[in-house]
Amino acid sequence: MKILILGAGYAGIAAATSLKPHANLDVTLIDRNPYHTVETRLHEAAAHRTKVTLPLAPLLQGTAVKLDLAQVSEVNLDTGEVKTNGGPTYTYDKLVVGLGSVTNFFRIPGLAEHAAELKTTEDADAIYAHFNRLFEPNYTGNRDVVIGGAGLTGVELITELAQRNQQLAEKHGLKPVKLYLVEAAPTILPIVEAKLRSEVEKVLRDYGIEILTNHKILEGHSDGSITVGTPDGGKRRIEAGKTVWTGGIMARDLVKGEKLEKGPGGRIPVDRTLQVPAYPGVYVLGDMAFGKDEHGNPMPPNAQLAGQQGRYMAEQLLAMANGKPTSEFMPYTQGEFISLGGLNAVGWVTLPGDKKMSLTGPPAHLMKRASETRWVLSLK
Ligand SMILES: Cc1cc2nc3c(=O)[nH]c(=O)nc-3n(C[C@H](O)[C@H](O)[C@H](O)COP(=O)(O)OP(=O)(O)OC[C@H]3O[C@@H](n4cnc5c(N)ncnc54)[C@H](O)[C@@H]3O)c2cc1C
Repeated sequence: MKILILGAGYAGIAAATSLKPHANLDVTLIDRNPYHTVETRLHEAAAHRTKVTLPLAPLLQGTAVKLDLAQVSEVNLDTGEVKTNGGPTYTYDKLVVGLGSVTNFFRIPGLAEHAAELKTTEDADAIYAHFNRLFEPNYTGNRDVVIGGAGLTGVELITELAQRNQQLAEKHGLKPVKLYLVEAAPTILPIVEAKLRSEVEKVLRDYGIEILTNHKILEGHSDGSITVGTPDGGKRRIEAGKTVWTGGIMARDLVKGEKLEKGPGGRIPVDRTLQVPAYPGVYVLGDMAFGKDEHGNPMPPNAQLAGQQGRYMAEQLLAMANGKPTSEFMPYTQGEFISLGGLNAVGWVTLPGDKKMSLTGPPAHLMKRASETRWVLSLK
């Protein structure tokens, strides 16, 4: 059985590293990079140039998987071909697509052109370099920074930058940079319960961050500033030298097919086996997939689920190779942790009986670190 796995992100690498060699399996993993990016730590890389990549080749030792480095340019489900930029065209018996997501700028005028984003190590390096430049003696531009979007990525990024801000200001004897967190919704972190959210807001205010909820970004400008809609129905220009937009994602748009449907954010609807209903043998995982759990609730695009889906996929492929029955994907939530810079974090773990235990401060930080370490160890 010829299997192609596209993308060595959370979903793809979990699938690949779980596939033990098998006589009936011929597996190729394709990624544009020779490394896996630990995206859940990109905000740290943006403030400290922390290394957040893992080379793929050592991870694949002892598996059934061959690695090909190539940029996928199109997946045509009607012809059953995967095209690559300047490389070979691949065919498959079973296709596992986990090519992740890109930033969704929601067609806000000027935003895609002028705002920075945080999706790759290059993005993180660019933010790191910009922040350092702000503290150079000959820097003359506007030093203020806007983070657009107060979800998990926005909050994690702004708290890392706030810490770095204090350190660099002290080191260079300069005023700290003004940081804005701008959000269209009435609250920051909608996934977090109210009590934890107010703790996060306090932490943000203590850092000196100006939180602007109910402020929708209407336009991004070439000088790094933005125009926002204000809660009273007016408009305001926030003068800044840099805006980083973290307010949304959409599925990478590479998969084509006459019978292919697209869900919210261009995500591809899949059934409970993560298969595209109109294309049996084609599986979509991670941020690209729009699947529902056993209760009919949409599964969120996150690293935890993408990893679970990858491991599930490997089990199913091995079952198929052994002529055994397959089963449906059963997602589970272990908890969620949000880093607030340094040793601070908030979050919760799931307890038996659908209960949650909230944690704050260093214990929450340790839980977040433990889950990241577990992820890395699970790939080895
Ligand atoms: C800053 C940040 C913080 C986050 N924090 C958390 C968190 O704390 N908890 C959490 O659960 N989630 C978090 N997320 C979300 C999480 O990282 C994503 O949900 C997860 O990475 C999705 O996994 P995936 O396998 O679908 O895609 P990805 O992990 O994005 O992997 C996609 C892979 O496809 C490859 N690829 C893409 N295009 C091509 C192409 N054309 N050709 C070849 N290869 C290609 C990429 O190189 C990559 O290896 C965070 C995301 C960000 C950006």
